[in-house]
Amino acid sequence: MYKQGNYPIIAKRAIGRGVFDVTISCPEVAELAQAGQFAQVAAEGFFLRRPISICDIDKQAGTIRLVFEVRGKGTDKISELNVGQNIDIIAPLGHGFTFIEGAKAVCIGGGIGTPPMLPLAKH
Ligand SMILES: Cc1cc2nc3c(=O)[nH]c(=O)nc-3n(C[C@H](O)[C@H](O)[C@H](O)COP(=O)(O)OP(=O)(O)OC[C@H]3O[C@@H](n4cnc5c(N)ncnc54)[C@H](O)[C@@H]3O)c2cc1C
Repeated sequence: MYKQGNYPIIAKRAIGRGVFDVTISCPEVAELAQAGQFAQVAAEGFFLRRPISICDIDKQAGTIRLVFEVRGKGTDKISELNVGQNIDIIAPLGHGFTFIEGAKAVCIGGGIGTPPMLPLAKH
């Protein structure tokens, strides 16, 4: 099950050149979200949404974090959104990671594929 809505951005920071870390207040999405899932993010003026992985979930605070790199026109448009503005997302989507209780996991990611490892590492 997923939700679509316009949710407020409550924090945003640049963590590298063209790489943004955005926290979104979306309790109904945070409630459903699992590590390894992603959001389809609307970019104003573009028909197709851009898929961005959910890199952190705080179910108590009702927030999710997205970390993305500007790669083209769509992510550039999304990067213009600031704290206090709403972001249009459909989430959570995709199959999350499978947690195997009691097992040790090694998380391997590269570049912008690293942030989605965070919830898995926390678990
Ligand atoms: C499930 C999933 C999860 C993802 N999670 C993340 C994430 O957490 N963080 C993240 O940063 N990204 C993530 N991505 C990648 C992200 O979705 C893409 O980077 C984004 O959709 C690019 O959109 P854009 O409009 O900015 O770029 P586009 O305009 O679509 O361009 C994409 C690339 O193609 C090149 N390109 C575009 N047009 C041309 C052309 N005419 N000729 C040659 N090259 C061209 C661009 O230079 C760019 O490198 C994920 C993708 C998927 C499928």
